[in-house]
Formats: sequence, C-alpha cells, structure tokens
Amino acid sequence: MQTNFTAAQLADPHVAESESILRKCVHCGFCTATCPTYVTLGNELDSPRGRIYLIKDMLENGRPADEEVVTHIDRCLSCLACMTTCPSGVNYMHLVDHARVHIENIYKRPLKDRLVRATLAAVLPYPSRFRLALKAARLGRPFAALLRRVPPLKAFGVMLDLAPRRIAPPSNAAQPGTRAAGAEKRGRVAILTGCAQPVLKPEINEATIRLLTRLGVEVVVPEGEGCCGALVHHMGREEQALVSARRNVDAWIKAADEGGLDAIVITASGCGTTIKDYGHMLRLDPAYAEKAARVSALAKDITEYLTSLDLPRQEAKNMTVAYHSACSMQHGQKITVAPKLLLKNAGFTVRDPAEGHLCCGSAGTYNILQPEISATLKARKVKNIEATKADIVATGNIGCITQIATGTRMPILHTVELLDWAYGGEKPALLQK
Ligand code: SF4
Ligand code: SF4
Repeated sequence: MQTNFTAAQLADPHVAESESILRKCVHCGFCTATCPTYVTLGNELDSPRGRIYLIKDMLENGRPADEEVVTHIDRCLSCLACMTTCPSGVNYMHLVDHARVHIENIYKRPLKDRLVRATLAAVLPYPSRFRLALKAARLGRPFAALLRRVPPLKAFGVMLDLAPRRIAPPSNAAQPGTRAAGAEKRGRVAILTGCAQPVLKPEINEATIRLLTRLGVEVVVPEGEGCCGALVHHMGREEQALVSARRNVDAWIKAADEGGLDAIVITASGCGTTIKDYGHMLRLDPAYAEKAARVSALAKDITEYLTSLDLPRQEAKNMTVAYHSACSMQHGQKITVAPKLLLKNAGFTVRDPAEGHLCCGSAGTYNILQPEISATLKARKVKNIEATKADIVATGNIGCITQIATGTRMPILHTVELLDWAYGGEKPALLQK
C-alpha cells in the first residue's frame, strides 16, 4: 500500500512503525474471509482491510477519530485471525493497538461509554476489587434484565449476566512463594497468577502447580506480579498497561536472577499473547527494553512448557474432548498442535469443532462492550462445539471458558485440568457431578 506520511509525522516512532505495517498490505482482501466481524456483519469497514484503510486515513491525513472510525475499530475483536490469513505478513495487532491508543488520546466518548470503560479498567485488573464486584453482582442479578433494556445501562446488565453464581474463596495458589518439586527436580518456573482468572477459576493454577511439582518442577509465584495489562491495553489505555508490564517485568527478572527460571508459565492465552509482546511494548523505554525482551523470551503457555517435559503416554480414557482453540492461542501465539497432542497423549479422544478459526466473542471485555456481535459469535461457536457430540470441552483461556459456559450445558475445562487428572491428580470437580 502506498503511503504519504510527512517526515515530521514519521519522526514519531509509533507512526513510523504503523507506516511500515501499512506498506506491507497489498489490498488482496484474503483476510476478510476469516474475519469474524466481516463474516457476521458483511460490511467492508468491519473487515481487516477496511479497518486498515480507516487507520491509514486517520493517521496520515490527521483525520479526527470520529464516531464512524471509532465504531468500526471498537468492533474489532483483536482476535488476530487476519494475521494468520494474511500472505503479506501485515502486523495488524500492532497497527490496531496504535489506533486504539490514538483514539483513546484524542476522542471523547459519550459519557455512558466512558463510565463503563472506566469501571472495567478500575475493577477487572485488581483481584480484590473484582471479587467484591462479583459479590455485589449477586445482589444486582435480579435487575439484569431491566438494566439490559435501558441503553445507557445495558453494559452493566451484561456484566451481571456474565458474573458467575458461585465465587470460590481466595486460593493458596495465588499466594507468593515457592512450591517445591515433588520429585527429582528437573526445572524451575514462575507462574503468572493474573487478575480475573484466580477469582473466576482458581482451579486452573491449582491444577498447574499440582501437575508441575508432581513432575519435578519447582514453581515460584513471585511477589509483586499482577495483571498482565491486556484488558486495558485492548481499550487503548497504554500507560495503565505499561505500568502493569513494568511491574511484572521487575517481579520476574528478580525471580530469574535469584534462582534461575526455565520459563514464565502462563495459563491464560490472552495474557500469554500480551506478555510475549512486552519486548515490543517497552521497546522505547531504555530502562526496561532489554529486561522486557528477556521476559517475553521466557514466556510460555503451559502447553508449550509441558511439551518440553516429554510426558509419557497414558492409557486411553473413555472420554471425548472438543478442543476449542482460543484466538490468542492459535492466532496470537500460533500454538495449534501442542494442546491437542498433550490431550491425545494423556488418553483423551480429541475432536476439532468446525470453523475453529472464528472467535467465540469473548475477547477480553468485548462481550461487555459489544454484546450483540459477541452473542452472535457465541451462538455460532456453541453450535459448532455441540455438533462434535463430545463429552466435554477443553480450552486454554479463561475468557473463552466464561463465554462458552454461558451458552452450553457441556462441561468446559482448562486443558491443564484434564492433564493434571490424567497424570495422577484428582478428577476435576466439574466432572464429578
Ligand atoms: S483482529 Fe479479528 S475482528 Fe479484528 S480485523 Fe482482524 S480478524 Fe477481524
Ligand atoms: S490479507 Fe493482508 S495484504 Fe491482504 S488485504 Fe488483508 S491485511 Fe492486506
């Protein structure tokens, strides 16, 4: 794509990077076929190619981020299916990240949108606030339908719908400290505790720590780590995201320097995609660029790390698993084979739902901010998953678990919960009913 940025514009390193991304696009439109919003809405401006034109126009011509541009950029799920499809290597992720920050800096959203976004940014990244909000949601649930009918309050109604009925007590797995290897030591890793996941489903990191220590891996929960920053990063709140990134980099570099780390293990693929990008996010910060690149190189999804341990084959189980590959897993991190191989090796029969490349509509806070598109994508995803006639669903991202669980009666678990069970742990509580 030809661009006409001025030298003054290109002096901004963010603009210079976006320009080099734009120049790679050859307008072929292959990406439109796999874009969930184009497939759902059929509007070119809701396709990757259409958004690329809007972003180019906004950045190059100094066009204000008006309602039209913001509407189409907001509808993007950041699922990154377009990056998997693009034959020209267009880094849409970094382009749309820049566009979101630009919009956040220059566009004044309507009051109701600012209120919803500020609430999400002030609550979700902080486990104690999120836990409190979920408790409050139990009281508010009877009013959910009413709130959904009042347009300015609709997002709050959707939040009440998504809030789980049962809230687990705080888990020991989230407490800082070292969990010793339970067999001959073969490795040492740090684990990301995260923000929403330990509140919504502490069983995931509990299963991970049990499995890893049983396999001889020492697991450290470093003091000071927290939310990876992805939730606010996707809302264009760059500074808030970078504060989270720097805090985590400090915590993990300290853990690495104190006792060595083979990996930083991450059990939510949405967080993994962001942490693997810390090196890029902090590239312009001289105090953090090198440390952040080191952290990104150490970051591994739990299934990547488990693959390196060469686990023994287990006896076949009489259980069929529909494997839902989260967008952040397959498109963000390009991990497509490892989780299914691990499950097969552990004795499960694995089935791939049709249209596996399409997002389930969760996408961080997307299911709250864009409830209609999200609901359409969820219904399509659930239909494809249920068509597999599998006994259970497995996936590697808490957002997908929460989203899909509200649309089907099939039990849905994190892949590592099944692997923990297959390698000597207890049967997951969800399957004991
Ligand atoms: S990230 Fe997903 S929703 Fe956004 S343009 Fe790419 S394919 Fe479409
Ligand atoms: S597939 Fe790639 S090169 Fe083709 S229009 Fe989409 S982003 Fe541009």
